[in-house]
Amino acid sequence: MADLTLDEARKEVAALRDKLDDWANAYYTNDTPEVEDNVYDKNYNRLVELEQEFPQLVSQDSITQKVGGQIDNQFAKVNHEIPMLSMGDVFSKEELQQFDDRVQKQIGHEVAYNVELKIDGLSIALEYTNGKLTRASTRGNGQVGEDVTPNARYIADIPQTLPEKLTTEVRGECYMGKEPFAKLNAERDEKGETTFANPRNAAAGSLRQLDASITKHRHLSTFIYTWVNPPAEITSQHQAIEKMTQLGFHTNQTGRRIAKMADIFAFIDEYTAKRNSLDYGIDGIVLKVDDLDLQQELGNTVKVPRWEIAYKFPPEEQETVVHEIKWTVGRTGVVTPTAIMDPVQLAGTTVSHAVLHNADLLQQKDVRIGDTVMLHKAGDIIPEISEVVLAKRPKDAQPYPIPTTCPSCGEKLIHLKDEVALRCVNPSCPAQIEEGITHFASRPAMNIDGLGPKIVRQLIKNDLVHNVADLYHLNASDLAKLDHFKDKSISNLLNAINNSKRNSVELLLTGLGIDHVGAKAARLIAQKFKNMAKIMAADVQDVAAIDTIGMTIAESLTTYFAQDEVVELVNELKNSGLNMDYLGAGPEETESIPDNYFKDKTVVLTGTLAHYTRSEFTKKLQSLGAKVTSSVSGKTDYVIYGQDAGSKYSKAQKLGVPLLTEEEAIAQVK
Ligand code: NAD
Repeated sequence: MADLTLDEARKEVAALRDKLDDWANAYYTNDTPEVEDNVYDKNYNRLVELEQEFPQLVSQDSITQKVGGQIDNQFAKVNHEIPMLSMGDVFSKEELQQFDDRVQKQIGHEVAYNVELKIDGLSIALEYTNGKLTRASTRGNGQVGEDVTPNARYIADIPQTLPEKLTTEVRGECYMGKEPFAKLNAERDEKGETTFANPRNAAAGSLRQLDASITKHRHLSTFIYTWVNPPAEITSQHQAIEKMTQLGFHTNQTGRRIAKMADIFAFIDEYTAKRNSLDYGIDGIVLKVDDLDLQQELGNTVKVPRWEIAYKFPPEEQETVVHEIKWTVGRTGVVTPTAIMDPVQLAGTTVSHAVLHNADLLQQKDVRIGDTVMLHKAGDIIPEISEVVLAKRPKDAQPYPIPTTCPSCGEKLIHLKDEVALRCVNPSCPAQIEEGITHFASRPAMNIDGLGPKIVRQLIKNDLVHNVADLYHLNASDLAKLDHFKDKSISNLLNAINNSKRNSVELLLTGLGIDHVGAKAARLIAQKFKNMAKIMAADVQDVAAIDTIGMTIAESLTTYFAQDEVVELVNELKNSGLNMDYLGAGPEETESIPDNYFKDKTVVLTGTLAHYTRSEFTKKLQSLGAKVTSSVSGKTDYVIYGQDAGSKYSKAQKLGVPLLTEEEAIAQVK
């Protein structure tokens, strides 16, 4: 640094600011980071270093002088009377000790800290008027945030009403737990949508939605940790947390008031070890001077409070060697590279695969066979290659050639419109057919028990199926050709395939695997149009008119059904006896159904009914919010039986499942 001239420093500072501003915009405004946090942090720290060395280069618009976020103009703006600041951070215990030394020097004596987990989400402010939630907002640029009140109404742990008629403001972190995050990404992946890089971005992308009903389904949570204007009797941070808990806010109960640095270090060690087992992500530990008067005395800089600091966990990284890059073809034809590496232990699990997302990223990271790479888990969850250790690159390692043809069918790969993804658009590509049939049989779709990827692969290999309609032509002698298939497994699979014919039409619609049409969209579409013929005849405007369904889904659906081969496929399925009608409410729609005897119960029908046909009675029960299944298990709530009931009746008796005659059931239905 010492040998930099002012001119050189000026150039480097300008370049760093440009880069950091772009990255911050991608991260805060678009919720899609372009680089890893540690890359951002390294560049940020370099800028801080240069500005310290050359104070004449500090300018108000530097990212070091302002809270990073921008505001999306599509949201109403909220002025934060008391700014929502960022937080200083340190990366070692030594630096934490220096922070404590500075605080003690300024205060003149030892202080106690409330030590809290640093939750990996985004800040949210909640304003209450006379005990009622009146406004929720994001941090934005610290002075002005985005109004997300309708979205906050869908976050289950945010109290809409307080037990006391307070007019007050609290702040905390809005986050997405690890499980909902994994589920959301799996769903998006399935639909061919981009996945979120980590739970923090997923939380931000889910809260900052113009259509609040999207937030509703994203399972967000909060931890509230700041009381902006507490009553006079609250004099410390830990008391504020206690009282906010009593008021019904969701607070994190791991925080502790600690006076000695040695004990704070022990807390850090404890949570460094525990962090992988928590069901939400944390990226560090926060120290807050506990006494609120002392906080006032210490005050703030333009960007951060002087009374609190974050200790950031070092990224957990492991070195390993890449020995293969595997290209897989998804259901929609997207071809994705995955690095296969020597297995290593990382953040609680053994990792040997890291998805490289697309060919551009692979080229950007320049990963080559034989390379030693640093591996970490983004947001504690998704294994990712941070960088190649160039010093260890084998001399003969060659840049990895991006395939131009499909690894499954050999057809030419293409880029569609503005997509970064490479795609195989051959409708007869075996890998896509395999993925498509596996998807058709999967649980959210036709739910054909026992028809997983391995069996599908064998069916295709034995030339027994070429599309989903062929499943319904399979017979016992076909299945006898599969490995390890004996009488029992043959009849189980044939039964499961046969039973799936009775599924309500939204499951078939999901199973067809139309781009962007997942299980939820399929249900809404089926609910509106009632049967397959009407769905196929619907035009874009009719589909897009459904609440929460946008043009992307509507266009994808209508384009799909405009194809002759699709019409032929649906006809073939119909001729095989598949139900083409919407049969009523599914389990997630029962919320609005009034309470009744069968609501949310799993029911099995057996024997010949005297008053209704099976399908009529099934529809009736489903409209009451029941789930009607075909086999009796410990999860069955009732078995309704008619004349000549056989094995299901005796199984229910054996398992102690309550049995109802048809008449008893009808009495409850009326
Ligand atoms: P920050 O996220 O590091 O820390 C401040 C925030 O911590 C607060 O606003 C609050 O929301 C949160 N927090 C969580 N638990 C808390 C608790 N118990 N008490 C108080 N606050 C708590 O700071 P920032 O300014 O929002 O973001 C800077 C960080 O974001 C950087 O360290 C960087 O890693 C990352 N970033 C990454 C990119 C990228 O491109 N990858 C871009 C910009 C920023």
